[in-house]
Amino acid sequence: MQLIIASNNKGKIREYKQLLQPFGYDVVSQSEAGINIEVEETGTTFAENSALKARAIYALKHCAVLADDSGLVVDALGGEPGIYSARYGGCENDADRVSLVLEKMKNVSEENRTAHFVCTIHFIDTDGSEIPVEGRVYGKIGYEPIGENGFGYDPVFMYEGKSFAQLGAEEKNGVSHRANALKALIEKLNERKQV
Ligand code: IMP
Repeated sequence: MQLIIASNNKGKIREYKQLLQPFGYDVVSQSEAGINIEVEETGTTFAENSALKARAIYALKHCAVLADDSGLVVDALGGEPGIYSARYGGCENDADRVSLVLEKMKNVSEENRTAHFVCTIHFIDTDGSEIPVEGRVYGKIGYEPIGENGFGYDPVFMYEGKSFAQLGAEEKNGVSHRANALKALIEKLNERKQV
């Protein structure tokens, strides 16, 4: 059974392959499946956006599909950057987006610097049945970028005394919003296998 991941991000595909092949799926990326569409993320929530992407691909291929959406939610900024994380403030690159968050947070006290990453996964099985799940990881926004690893907002996301950009890939993948969403999906797939 083919399972299309609605992404061409190599890191994501590798992780999804390792975790989902044991369920009997032949995991392929969007481009490996010969799909060349860019689904517009017009939803108002992470969940809506991942559902839009998954359903667009299911409509084309009628095989199992997994789509995700993710971003950073900062409490003191009313939930920003949220679903606009990848294009926050119209900034062109990660460093500028990180600077924008720090600038907006410059007068925010330590106790009010709480934030979390969210990842929603929308899975559609071959028969069209849908499983939506969400994973989160909670932390705080730091005062300057720290660390060289990861991507996006990792250098300012402080988790248990370190920034996400200071963690190794394996360490981050053990606790991240994406890992937590995937764990939730795997639990649901296991429940279905037992029925
Ligand atoms: P996407 O879900 O891959 O489109 O990611 C949306 C955006 O959210 C990314 O471009 C990053 O700016 C941000 N983001 C999502 N996950 C992470 C993460 O694990 N670390 C840092 N930034 C992230």
